[in-house]
Amino acid sequence: MAVQRTFSIIKPDATKRNLTGKIIAKFEDAGLRVVASKRIHMSREQAEGFYGVHKDRPFFGELVDFMISEPVVVQVLEGEDAIAKNREVMGATNPTDAAEGTIRKEFALSIGENSVHGSDAEETAAEEIKFFFNDDEIVG
Ligand code: ADP
Ligand code: MG
Repeated sequence: MAVQRTFSIIKPDATKRNLTGKIIAKFEDAGLRVVASKRIHMSREQAEGFYGVHKDRPFFGELVDFMISEPVVVQVLEGEDAIAKNREVMGATNPTDAAEGTIRKEFALSIGENSVHGSDAEETAAEEIKFFFNDDEIVG
């Protein structure tokens, strides 16, 4: 597998509980490198746009309200097979299904407030990175 970049969000439930460093340590321990990072407070428009793919799901309104409730940390992670590796470190969407040692198993509060977002494929990774970062903000 080649070196890839993927997009990550440390979600409001985690920034609120001061878990940013512990979560980044999980990425770094897995061999992922933080090549871009910023702490932002998302606008409603940004959250609705970013999660547009889920707009017809019953939890969409709840998801948007949650994502704008507190600051988030948006990041680009780089490494061998970074997209799959990040999903592995994150764990399953629902923390009750997440494997031991994963971020969601250790830190997530519920299926909605699950501490991290990670891109699920090469195409979405590229789109999501572009949604939040200019090229000159990514330093590999
Ligand atoms: P993932 O983040 O693991 O890729 P999805 O893309 O399916 O999961 O969902 C996006 C986000 O929407 C989840 O991370 C979670 O915050 C929220 N979500 C998903 N399913 C539910 C649900 N059944 N109830 C509430 N929130 C949900
Ligand atoms: Mg997803």
